[in-house]
Amino acid sequence: MLRTLDITATIALAEAPFHNLYFGHSFELSLDCFICERQGRTTFLTVGGERAVCTGDRSHGGKHFAPARVAGFDPMSGRDRKALHVVVQQWWAPFRDAKRDQASAPVGTGWVRFELPYTCPDGRNGRASIQSNLVLPHALTCEHCDTVLATGEDVPKIVERL
Ligand SMILES: [Zn+2]
Ligand SMILES: [Zn+2]
Repeated sequence: MLRTLDITATIALAEAPFHNLYFGHSFELSLDCFICERQGRTTFLTVGGERAVCTGDRSHGGKHFAPARVAGFDPMSGRDRKALHVVVQQWWAPFRDAKRDQASAPVGTGWVRFELPYTCPDGRNGRASIQSNLVLPHALTCEHCDTVLATGEDVPKIVERL
């Protein structure tokens, strides 16, 4: 069956010199994978990619391509806020988790991690990130000039379309 996930993320921008902070086009999402038959595998997705990469399980051959893709990627920029709405589609089939011997559940409550690249006014590039399992509020700080660029006030959310 085809699963569709709506993922949303928001950050509050801080008063800071312009760093051109934006949501990067690659992100990590935990998905149940019927190919390596494991639950909650870290899966790498890229906007425009026709397939994803599952980190897999070493006893099942490790990293492999996975049938998931980014079907929508809509960043929104406000004066004091940046938001992102992502739609992920994954082809999914029931399986038993090979290691935990658990039946797979069709609705996963996984986590997601977005990278936010930026450029410091001094010209150097950096990368901040937000993810579902963070302690909040989470300050995104420039690794070069130590300025707080934004704050994550809410964790990214994943909702499956039914
Ligand atoms: Zn896999
Ligand atoms: Zn900076």
